[in-house]
Amino acid sequence: MGLYGRWRIGLAKTIAEDLRNLQEEGLYRQMRLVAGSQGGRVVLDGREVLLLCSNNYLGLANHPALQVASILAIERYGASSGASRLVSGNMELHQELEARIAAFKGTERALLFSSGYAANTGIIPALVGKGDLLFSDRLNHASIVDGASLSRARLVRYPHNDLAALRRLLLETKTTGRRLIVTDGVFSMDGDLAKLAELVALKREFGALLMVDDAHGSGVLGATGRGSAEQCGVMAAIDIHMGTFGKAFGSFGAYAAASAELIDYLINRARSFIFSTALPPAVLAASIAAIDLVEASEGQELRERLAGNTLLFRTAVQSAGFDTMGSATQIVPLFVGPAETVMECSRLLLAEGVFVQGIRPPTVPAGSCRLRCTLMATHTEADLLQAVAAITTVGRKLGVI
Ligand SMILES: *Cc1c(COP(=O)(O)O)cnc(C)c1O
Repeated sequence: MGLYGRWRIGLAKTIAEDLRNLQEEGLYRQMRLVAGSQGGRVVLDGREVLLLCSNNYLGLANHPALQVASILAIERYGASSGASRLVSGNMELHQELEARIAAFKGTERALLFSSGYAANTGIIPALVGKGDLLFSDRLNHASIVDGASLSRARLVRYPHNDLAALRRLLLETKTTGRRLIVTDGVFSMDGDLAKLAELVALKREFGALLMVDDAHGSGVLGATGRGSAEQCGVMAAIDIHMGTFGKAFGSFGAYAAASAELIDYLINRARSFIFSTALPPAVLAASIAAIDLVEASEGQELRERLAGNTLLFRTAVQSAGFDTMGSATQIVPLFVGPAETVMECSRLLLAEGVFVQGIRPPTVPAGSCRLRCTLMATHTEADLLQAVAAITTVGRKLGVI
């Protein structure tokens, strides 16, 4: 067997052990298969179920306007961009979509990234590095945490939404370099909002940059769907608006919207932008069609329906006795606690025809496992009543309520 063979067997053994440990701790993950398109009800592993764990909040993922726009874009521009933007992949649709994003967010310019994950792991290391300070909410998304590691800036994590603690940390830490404060606009596993007005005051006091990841707020929150910063009345004060197209916009991809200077800087410094193939025409066209819808009266109606569904659902589960953990949006977590219990809840709910995922470490801290329910504009009242009835039955059976 040589050294390589022995090493390979050793590695295989530790991988098998790791997998066994995950299973024993109730942390093992597997994919489920959804057949057909993404709607309020889907065919899961061959059976129709009510979908209560999708980020397709406005139901745009299978909207005819997005589908037609994609098909026409493929016919006109083909299937791929063929290269990164800085080589030869920069096409008309990239520029058109970026102009639309900048107008939507009220900034001078915008820049596309392949995904939200790529955006955060590109933007953060571009803006801060060795000698700089990065202040990050403890509950920020994993892609922000990974962007922070890649940046080599000194990471200062502050307790969730505790701005008195953040202010103390800003006072205590010294740098001659840059300070960047980064926060989710809507916290993805808790459904609560960042205190953006207070964060703006702090960033001004300390001369820091403020970046908001609004993956779950854009398209949904604020009077015109421009996101959590619109809802908090601080659109113009955010230095970097980061957002995604894979959630409320029913498409794919992500962006930074900022001043012309900052975008110019990202084009020259963000490695996940520079070294990655540009988004394909079909995706760009779907995103443009989604912005059209979000800005039209149809978008307004969808947002109103989503808000109505959220209120109905949250009120009903709260009066059944569930702890919804500070949820103020269409993300409504139901606190469960242990990993085994949350997975059993999820299994029993599926048997009742309701698809909700249990959320476990490392996505959330140990002991705070939860059923993360997400509402859609396309859920009917009958859907929601079915969901509440099933959740109440299962919650009682497992002693959660
Ligand atoms: C989903 C999400 C991302 C990642 O976006 P993708 O486009 O799915 O890669 C980043 N940040 C937050 C807060 C998210 O919820």
